[in-house]
Amino acid sequence: MTTGNMNWNEKNGVPFLTFPAFDALPFVRHAFSTRLGGVSEGCFSCMNLGFRRGDDEKNVWENYRRFCDAAGFNMQNLTASSQDHHTIIRRVSQQHAGLGFTRPRDRDSVDGLCSNTQGLTLVTYYADCVPLLFADKRTQAVGAAHAGWRGTVGRIGAVMVQRMAEEFSSKPEDLVVGIGPSIGPECYEVDTPVAEQFLAMEELNPIDFVHPAANGKYFLDLWECNRRVLMAAGIPAQNISCARLCTKCHSDLLYSHRFMGSQRGSLAAFICRKEEDGCA
Ligand SMILES: [Zn+2]
Repeated sequence: MTTGNMNWNEKNGVPFLTFPAFDALPFVRHAFSTRLGGVSEGCFSCMNLGFRRGDDEKNVWENYRRFCDAAGFNMQNLTASSQDHHTIIRRVSQQHAGLGFTRPRDRDSVDGLCSNTQGLTLVTYYADCVPLLFADKRTQAVGAAHAGWRGTVGRIGAVMVQRMAEEFSSKPEDLVVGIGPSIGPECYEVDTPVAEQFLAMEELNPIDFVHPAANGKYFLDLWECNRRVLMAAGIPAQNISCARLCTKCHSDLLYSHRFMGSQRGSLAAFICRKEEDGCA
């Protein structure tokens, strides 16, 4: 199975993907789900982690139980984003445990989460959009952000760097960032009005991530654009990993909105600052 630059892990028949650079950090636990190892059926087959996609709720809960058991997360300590393609980052702490799981979300627009609470697990959702994970080697704070094209052009990666500086005194040079599985540069075709917003990011040299297509449209490289945004925010290039794993090319392994349409499940990224003796 192709996993790009990510590590393939598996326990009890449930696979999950991790970044080697994050596996090397003793204070962080993180994981990306795949389509495999769950109980959902039909277009949700089979590890759908989205409660709001029309899947049977019992199956989604069972998927969480299996995934959290395999990857080592405490189900009581999950907190969900509330993604709507803006760039609002929320700092969460123990009082937010269970939001989006055992109790309803209390806000509508949260495309990024950050925390330094040990054990609290940040959960964000994907199916082509770009997952950005953050870990601060010095303060041990962690973050997760959802960067679709709107979040990317809104520089949500830089918004997270700024917010982590405000909340945790994080310095860009201490941040390790992972750009997760998402739609790749050969598969993400957009119309001119979208491309023009990226071409306007002049300081990032957009000809490196906006490529004209033969049909008058454009291909966008969201991985490279996010990398440029993060570097412009002060993160050293060597601290940034990119999974280079395209959801659309690997729709057998990953849910892809472009490939499957709206009848599909959701992938999720999980990250927490471990407790002293493990995450749970
Ligand atoms: Zn692709």
